[in-house]
Amino acid sequence: MAIETLYDKDGSLAPLQGKTIAVLGYGSQGHAHAQNLRDSGLNVIVANRKDSANGKLAAEHGFDPSPVADAVKKADLVVLTLPDEVQPDVYAKDIAPNLEAGKTLVFTHGFNIHFKTITPPDNVNVIMVAPKGPGHTVRWEYERGGGVPCLMAIHQDATGSAHDLALAYAIGVGGGKGGTLVTTFKDECETDLFGEQVVLCGGLSESIKKGFEVLTEAGYPPELAYFEVCHELELIINLIKRGGLDYMRYSISNTAEFGDYYTGPKICDDDTKKRMEAALKHIQDGSFAKAFRDDYQDGFKWFKQQRKENAGHKVEAVGKELRRMMPWLKPVELTDDGVKAV
Ligand code: NDP
Ligand code: MG
Repeated sequence: MAIETLYDKDGSLAPLQGKTIAVLGYGSQGHAHAQNLRDSGLNVIVANRKDSANGKLAAEHGFDPSPVADAVKKADLVVLTLPDEVQPDVYAKDIAPNLEAGKTLVFTHGFNIHFKTITPPDNVNVIMVAPKGPGHTVRWEYERGGGVPCLMAIHQDATGSAHDLALAYAIGVGGGKGGTLVTTFKDECETDLFGEQVVLCGGLSESIKKGFEVLTEAGYPPELAYFEVCHELELIINLIKRGGLDYMRYSISNTAEFGDYYTGPKICDDDTKKRMEAALKHIQDGSFAKAFRDDYQDGFKWFKQQRKENAGHKVEAVGKELRRMMPWLKPVELTDDGVKAV
């Protein structure tokens, strides 16, 4: 393998034993890291507002969520599982004043270090352990004895033990099972942003919406369109995940495979690739990070408008109706009070 990949056998939890790990935030990543590390036998404390949905969940899970500053004071390792846009303010107000030499900052995404919206002092370790999956998968895979692969990186090694701490942390969250790839904050950050914008989230959501629009505008029933361009995706993705594109193509009909080669390159063509390259430039030169921060400072006006418009897309309405008829999918819906099972 071209990139150094570490497994359970390459390290141990010892560097973290006897240390206090403060997980700041009990959201998607935070709840998974806190519980996985605790189940790995480590000493974990959680910082979160007590009265929010996440704060209540942390208490239900046996943690006693405290204010950020209190947790940082007690901790040897401080894990920033807070939204990227709020990290700089929380860092300045509650973390930096309570950081002592030799402590370790743990990031789960390279964004704020790479784009220099957080600049820690030289006397602390700055490491990253970034699971390559949503937080709920990080927890779920760990519970069934596996683990989501992680990326790990060292930005600053103040104590000489940053590498061992990062590997121990990765093992503690389950990343020693699927493999922990050694990388840099820069590479993790830029490839992560590219993946989510161009293929995984942005590219996929727009493909679903445009495919749905073309079929329904041509007069086909929306239910049919939903099944064709959205519902079946899981099946295709599972085949790809288990055996690659060729196994997916082996499993689908010859008609589907022929159509894949015949039409696919007409949809995603060299012009699409050029736009992907432009998106990468936009990430590398910091303009995406600036757009994100500017909108955050403007109360996320543009962001909230997009969320609203997208929630109103017809594919969402018909999907909701159809999923309610398939309880075995364990459908969920977003409400003002968070996620609800339906
Ligand atoms: P979430 O939005 O799911 O959770 C954020 C948590 O931070 C919540 O518990 C929230 O508390 C708390 N919080 C929000 N604002 C503040 C504040 N001002 N002060 C104190 N606490 C606050 O975050 P994610 O888990 O999605 O993201 C965390 C990090 O993980 C990011 O760096 C992200 O890039 C990275 N990451 C995320 C992945 C994912 O799957 N989501 C995948 C890989 C990396 P409250 O209960 O009060 O709302
Ligand atoms: Mg990502």
